[in-house]
Amino acid sequence: MALKLYNTLTRKKEIFKPIKNKTVGIYTCGPTVYSYQHIGNLRSYVFADTLKKVLFYNGYKVKHVMNVTDVGHLSSDADTGEDKIEKAAQKEKKTASEITEYYWKIFKDDFKKLNIIEPDIWSKATDHIKEQIELIKKLEKNGYTYKTNDGIYFNTAKLKNYGELAQLKKQKLQAGKRIKLGEKKNITDFALWKFSEKPGTRQQEWQSPWGIGFPGWHIECSAMSMEYLGERFDIHTGGIDHISIHHTNEIAQNQVATGHRVVNFWMHGAFLTFKGEKVSKSKGGLYTISELEEKGFSPLAYRYLLLTAHYRSPLEFSLESLKKAQEGYERLKNIIGETRADGKINNKYLDDFNKTINDDLDIPKAMSVLWKLLRDKKAMGKIKTIKEMDRVFGLDLLKKEEIKIPKEIKKLVKERENARKNKDWKKSDELRTKIKSLGYWIEDTGKGAKVKKI
Ligand code: AMP
Ligand code: ZN
Repeated sequence: MALKLYNTLTRKKEIFKPIKNKTVGIYTCGPTVYSYQHIGNLRSYVFADTLKKVLFYNGYKVKHVMNVTDVGHLSSDADTGEDKIEKAAQKEKKTASEITEYYWKIFKDDFKKLNIIEPDIWSKATDHIKEQIELIKKLEKNGYTYKTNDGIYFNTAKLKNYGELAQLKKQKLQAGKRIKLGEKKNITDFALWKFSEKPGTRQQEWQSPWGIGFPGWHIECSAMSMEYLGERFDIHTGGIDHISIHHTNEIAQNQVATGHRVVNFWMHGAFLTFKGEKVSKSKGGLYTISELEEKGFSPLAYRYLLLTAHYRSPLEFSLESLKKAQEGYERLKNIIGETRADGKINNKYLDDFNKTINDDLDIPKAMSVLWKLLRDKKAMGKIKTIKEMDRVFGLDLLKKEEIKIPKEIKKLVKERENARKNKDWKKSDELRTKIKSLGYWIEDTGKGAKVKKI
């Protein structure tokens, strides 16, 4: 059962073969840490995590690198506007690093809550200024850069196959009337290095051969991916919004710097939408995981919701659909909780499961295999099979909820145990009734009393 993955570069599902034996190199475009990441952003990381889990399931090792954009991401993709981090620092009256460390930590907390495995390497843009300058120097040496008043730019017209990933030629992208060229030679040209407008007024700026300034957003990902994964690596992931500009520009930089294609598979996750459009400030739906928790949802119910859609299909979000997902997830866990552990792994179901996940990570289908297994009265080995499946789902399907029993209840349970020891059945029954009236249920097992929430 070969693993097939959809490659945005070819617009086809291709059989995946790693470059180096069993270790797969993956680079994921990480967050710009100037604010909280919303549940839309997190969909893109659950997708990358699912990819990783499927690779593990297939017996591969993974070297996963994720960047943290802590400088240079401007508010407009046309290389204008303010630096998002500098702006947030000014607004919150903090240093840039206070801002980035704060939001990065929350991002990592969200990873834990959602059972997302952290990357092997986190790489911050500000820790790799030297590598970015070196890369720009290479592009300059090869004759692909030019200088304007505000920075050093990449000349996209010089690269014959520029825009291959986004199929820009097919879209006949031309110097449009709507986009101001300014000093740029072509509308698709992009900044590699931006000069500080007034050196000394920015918090984050560095010396460079071209003047004091800071790196552009695209150069950071080319520099850091090659730094850690080499000049040829397996998979690069991100959200679909990265196809037309960010990843197109990474490919251009990589090509000019190395003379060849660096990334084998480009994979992109579709958007989480709200009222039909990308989750965004104007449309709403910009919840964070903590906000969903405050509303009584569990983060894994959100993960469950995400797994009901294929990663390349848009997913419409609403609190009602999340509520349904939470109910479905709880029902699933309850059914599994009542399922007897008997027999070995059920290979028939596991083979079906394997086929679905290896077909470009078709998790919704894999989920239906799980439900079918649970409904099959004759099937054996359910629990062991589900354990295997959950290596990919990451839903803690076999984990028993740890319920916090209040001290007061614990005391009553203890008293009841003592009453039972003394064969004082009347008292024991009274205590059981009292405990029940407080919302807890006692189950007497061979190993003593078990307390459950009603
Ligand atoms: P940013 O912090 O803006 O660089 O975005 C982080 C990641 O979230 C990128 O990979 C984006 O493609 C992705 N992203 C942004 N909005 C959404 C959305 N509504 N649904 C899914 N992914 C998104
Ligand atoms: Zn990137």
